[in-house]
Amino acid sequence: MKAHDGMYIDGAWRPAAGADTIAVVNPADEQVIAHVPAGSVEDVDAAVRAARAALPGWAATPPADRAARIAALRDVLVARKDEIAETVTAELGSPLPFSQKVQVGLPIAVAGSYAELAATHPFEGRAGNSTVYHEPVGVVGAITPWNYPLHQIVAKVAPALAAGCTVVLKPAEDTPLTAQLFAEAVHEAGVPAGVFNLVTGLGPVAGQALAEHEGVDLVSFTGSTAVGRQIGATAGAAVKKVALELGGKSANVILPSADLAKAVNIGVANVMSNSGQTCSAWTRMLVHREQYDEAVELAAAAAEKYGDRIGPVASAKQQARVRGYIEKGVAEGARLVAGGPESPREQGYFVSPTVFADVRPEMTIAQEEIFGPVLSVIPYEDEDEAVRIANGTVYGLAGAVWAGEDTEAVAFARRLDTGQVDINGGRFNPLAPFGGYKQSGVGRELGAHGLSEYLQTKSLQF
Ligand code: NAP
Ligand code: MG
Repeated sequence: MKAHDGMYIDGAWRPAAGADTIAVVNPADEQVIAHVPAGSVEDVDAAVRAARAALPGWAATPPADRAARIAALRDVLVARKDEIAETVTAELGSPLPFSQKVQVGLPIAVAGSYAELAATHPFEGRAGNSTVYHEPVGVVGAITPWNYPLHQIVAKVAPALAAGCTVVLKPAEDTPLTAQLFAEAVHEAGVPAGVFNLVTGLGPVAGQALAEHEGVDLVSFTGSTAVGRQIGATAGAAVKKVALELGGKSANVILPSADLAKAVNIGVANVMSNSGQTCSAWTRMLVHREQYDEAVELAAAAAEKYGDRIGPVASAKQQARVRGYIEKGVAEGARLVAGGPESPREQGYFVSPTVFADVRPEMTIAQEEIFGPVLSVIPYEDEDEAVRIANGTVYGLAGAVWAGEDTEAVAFARRLDTGQVDINGGRFNPLAPFGGYKQSGVGRELGAHGLSEYLQTKSLQF
C-alpha cells in the first residue's frame, strides 16, 4: 500500500524529526501493509507553528472563497473515492461495499454540507444595539479514532475550515493511510499551505503533545471516554476550548405496538454494521416481557444470518477486548443465543456476531462500551422501567424508539437522556447535531451546530 514517509506540514510532505515508525496492519489477514512515521513533540510543534502562521490569512479569507476550497476538497474526495475506500478496507477491514457507501460516501456528503454552510452561514448578526461577529476560534488540534477514519476527520476539518480556523490533525495510529490520502486531497483542492497539517503518531506521544500545545486554541477529540477525560482536564487547565465525542451504550427501545420483526432486524443490523465499531450503535435492545422470547429468537436468527458477511474488528487488541467482554457476559450469567468468544476464522481479527439474552441492566456487558458485534437483549415490564433502563448508564449518545405511531415513539424519546434518537427507523442525517449527553461528550458535530463549535463571538456596541 502507498504511504508517505513524512508529515504534511505547511503545504508539503516533510521528513519527520525522529526515525520511529508505525506498522499498519490489515486486520483481515494480519499482514503489515505499510509503515508511517511516528510523530514526536518536535513534529507537532512544527505543525502547530505552520497552522498559527497560516491563521490570519485563512481567517481573513472571505467565507465564499473558503467554501470554494471545501467544495474542491469534496470534488477530490469524489474523484478518488475508490482509492480511499480500498485504503479504508485495507487498514480497517470493513468490507469494500461498506467502505464505498458509508466510510467514503458519508464524509463526501459532510464535506458538501460544509461547502454550502460556509457560503451561506451568517458570520455577522445583530442583537439590540450590537453587531455580533462570529470569528474563528483559532488553531484546532484534531484527534481522531479509527472506526470511521475519513468521516471522523472530515467531521472536524470541514467545519473548522469553513469557520476560518486552521488545523493540525493527529489521526488514529491504526488508520493513518486514510489520513494521508485526505492530506493529499486537501493539497489537490488548493487549500493554502499551513491551513491543514497532518502529524501521524501515537496517542500518548503526538496526541498528548498536540492537546497540551500552547499554540492550540481548541482541541477536538473523538475516541474513548478514558482519553477524553484526560484531554478535557488538560484543556481545562489551560483554559482552552474543547469538544469531546466519546463512547456510547445506546438503547434500542421496542414498544409493544411496534412491528417487532422489523425493529429487531434493523436493530441487529445496526449493531453488526462496521463490526460493532460505531459509537452510536444500539447495543442494548429493550423489549417488553411479553414479546421477549420472540424478540430473542428473531435477534439470534438475524445475527446468524450475518455470519460471514461481517468484517474483522480493527486490531488484535480490539479483538482481545471484545472477546474478553463476551467471556465476562457468560461469567456474569447472561445467556449466549448467537456467536460467542471463539474466533470464527484462523486468520484475521474476526469476532462472531454475538447476541446475549437474559441480560440484566447492571451487568458489565450492558453498562460498558464493547465496540464489537455484541448485542444485549434486555426485558422490561412497563414504560417507566424501559426509560429507567435506557437512561441507566453513564452514556447518552444515541438511541432508537419503535412504536405503532410516530407520536407514541416521540413521547417516549423525549424522556431519554441522549443526544440523538431514531424514530421508527429514521435515517442518519448528516445535518443533524451529533453528540452526547452525560459522559458521551461535550459539544456537537455536523451541520450548523458543528460549525458553531469552531466560532467565537465578538460584540460591537453602537
Ligand atoms: P482512544 O485511545 O481514545 O483513541 C482515540 C484517539 O486518541 C487516537 O488518535 C489515539 O491515538 C488518541 N490518543 C490516545 N491516547 C491519547 C492521549 N493520552 N492523548 C491524546 N490522544 C490520545 O481509543 P482507542 O484506543 O482507539 O479505542 C479504545 C476504545 O475507545 C474503543 O474500544 C471504544 O470503546 C472507544 N472508541 C470510541 C469511539 C467513538 O467514536 N466514540 C471511536 C473509537 C474508539 P492512538 O490511535 O495512537 O491510540
Ligand atoms: Mg488507543
